[in-house]
Amino acid sequence: MSPVVAPSPAHVLVTGSTRGIGAAIVEALAARGARVVGHGSRDGEGALGADLSDPAAADGLWDRALAALDGRIDVLVNNAGIFEPVAVDAPLEAWQAGWGRTIQINLQASADLCRRAVLHFRERGGGGRIVNIASRAAYRGDSPAHWHYAASKAGMVGMTKSIARGYAAEGILAFAICPGFTMTGMAGDYLASRGGDKLLADIPLGRVATAEEVGGTAAWLALEAPVSMTGAVIDINGASYVR
Ligand code: NAD
Repeated sequence: MSPVVAPSPAHVLVTGSTRGIGAAIVEALAARGARVVGHGSRDGEGALGADLSDPAAADGLWDRALAALDGRIDVLVNNAGIFEPVAVDAPLEAWQAGWGRTIQINLQASADLCRRAVLHFRERGGGGRIVNIASRAAYRGDSPAHWHYAASKAGMVGMTKSIARGYAAEGILAFAICPGFTMTGMAGDYLASRGGDKLLADIPLGRVATAEEVGGTAAWLALEAPVSMTGAVIDINGASYVR
């Protein structure tokens, strides 16, 4: 069996790293000495640009990240994601467009990158790690305007477990994180739109998670977590959903 301890420094691709949780993941990885290539929806901000709503973009992003990391990636972190509403009474065309966009960005692009990661880890030997940022919504569901978001994140959890089971013997490990509300731009808007206090009352810890809590956990899974943990899904939600 392959070692699965990342070489030092580990080479890591993090998607959606230009702000929020992704930026915190990059910071935590850099603090642990990893060599990181980040990604955002467009070029600039010190990251590779690729709009993951384009079905070809994730595969192209992998090639560019591999080139930027001198042909070796040890860890993939799928963090890019959107949380856009679509109402149940929207016209069918808008409904399907909303579903298609969310599934494409949150799930299909992640799957395309996981595919390239598994093929790369196999080809070069030595194993590798995948960390997928899913959501509490995968288990608890989400608001009436976000069926598709919950479905995309549940899909991510199922995909992560399949990868873990399928390739552990080859040293390829996969983990998922399910954050509850996390204070980023995205969560800030949500908190305000839902009336912050009511939402907080549903969280026994009394506050939302911080991006640093999620970032540190992702970096730990990416570089240090015990190999036997492969397939694990870590909740970070202040006990707002305990399973
Ligand atoms: P954010 O909106 O602050 O950042 C999202 C990142 O994804 C950005 O870097 C953005 O450039 C990238 N992105 C968005 N659309 C893209 C596209 N079309 N193409 C390429 N990149 C795109 O979000 P966040 O709150 O930091 O969330 C990060 C991840 O954590 C997401 O997958 C989200 O679903 C998940 N999550 C967030 C929360 C929360 O409360 N913030 C809770 C659970 C899960």
